[in-house]
Amino acid sequence: MQVTKNQINDVESLDELEKLVSVCELCTLSKIKTKDVFGVGCPRAEIMFIGEAPGKKEDAQGEPFIGAAGKFLNEMLESIGLSRTEIYIANVLKHRPPNNRDPLPEEAETCWPYLKRQIELINPKLIVFLGRHSMNRFFPDYKISDAHGNAFRKEMWGRNQVFLALYHPAAALYNGGMRETLKKDFSKIPKIVDGIDV
Ligand code: URA
Repeated sequence: MQVTKNQINDVESLDELEKLVSVCELCTLSKIKTKDVFGVGCPRAEIMFIGEAPGKKEDAQGEPFIGAAGKFLNEMLESIGLSRTEIYIANVLKHRPPNNRDPLPEEAETCWPYLKRQIELINPKLIVFLGRHSMNRFFPDYKISDAHGNAFRKEMWGRNQVFLALYHPAAALYNGGMRETLKKDFSKIPKIVDGIDV
């Protein structure tokens, strides 16, 4: 179905938005999907994590971050006393690119209204980028090596939003130095959230 931007903007719940994703044919990834990977977690989460795109396991099971990177993410969440039910996890793309290639700019652009509406409906205090692709979708000029670990505020869609960029768990998984940096950056999350008064 040719879902329109107006349809996406008009939905009033995540369930309705997920239904639109399930019938969306705006890009070719929908033709080769096994499952939609819309997002999971608390619909009113204070913290929203945004990754890049579903991989093979996520495509098979319809849930973001359930492979090796997801296990690492779960460990880091546990280390700060959070579970996946208390936060929200989504991706820039809702369908898997073939062979896990990077999202094409036109795919990210086409899928963008879904992510935008998802953020508006959840209204998180803190948006955490998992990796540079997710961060660059919002801030094309930022470098993850400079931006990681330092929360910042930016005006976005009339909201004064707080963001935190982290290295992608998959990139950090097998790189000792990056792994330690990611864990250290991750451990800052509770203090950052506590310090946000809206
Ligand atoms: N990597 C991502 O960016 N997202 C997923 O859902 C899984 C792996």
